[in-house]
Amino acid sequence: MDLILKVFRFRPGRDLEPTYQRYIVAAEPQERILDALRRIQADQDDTLSFRSSCAHGVCGSCAVRIDGHCGLACQTLARGFEGRDVTIEPLPGFKVLKDLMVDLTPFFDRVALIRPFLVNRTPPPEKERLQTPADQGKIDEAIRCILCASCVAACPVTHGNPRYIGPAPLVQAFRRVFDSRDEEMLARLKQLAEPDMAEACTNRFECTRVCPKEIKVTKTINTLKREIAKHLGEGKGGRA
Ligand code: SF4
Repeated sequence: MDLILKVFRFRPGRDLEPTYQRYIVAAEPQERILDALRRIQADQDDTLSFRSSCAHGVCGSCAVRIDGHCGLACQTLARGFEGRDVTIEPLPGFKVLKDLMVDLTPFFDRVALIRPFLVNRTPPPEKERLQTPADQGKIDEAIRCILCASCVAACPVTHGNPRYIGPAPLVQAFRRVFDSRDEEMLARLKQLAEPDMAEACTNRFECTRVCPKEIKVTKTINTLKREIAKHLGEGKGGRA
């Protein structure tokens, strides 16, 4: 099949405004959009810029907007796009560095705000800090997050309120709040009860719809809200 990709092109500082360039590339239905982008770069236009690394849904670096939906180019098949233009754009809400590459620094700065690491001041055991399978099960889903930023790019609340911490940082917070080995649960919940944190989510569900790791992101945030209310009192974390 022929895949027709209409790709966002922009070189800040050189181009006055973005343009869309049309490429026709041969692709098997089971190939991915990432395969097509790589083929364009190799055979047609080596000036096209995009990020990719693992190409297997693990690193999260090839997140873009495909036909209006944020997600991984390595997980989106060519099948279903035959016979029409498919628009490929950078993740919305981020500064474009070039073409499909955006500056994710503000995203990672927000993730860093919630201290995405285990805090445990007791001396470490000889081998490792253990937890039961049941305790591990509580954070199993959140652990799947690959920090691709698709949820943040798709979130209408994030676009309406630039101070909102955003869904992915909240998923990262969930993972630490419910980790039986972490000693900072209350401090973490107090931080999450602040304005523009968990309570700012208004349940629009776009994060859940786009997450390539099928994390129920909105449910995760609502669970955090309930945990805040349970430990700090009603009204501290908004209504779940
Ligand atoms: Fe990506 Fe899902 Fe993690 Fe959001 S929650 S950053 S969409 S993997």
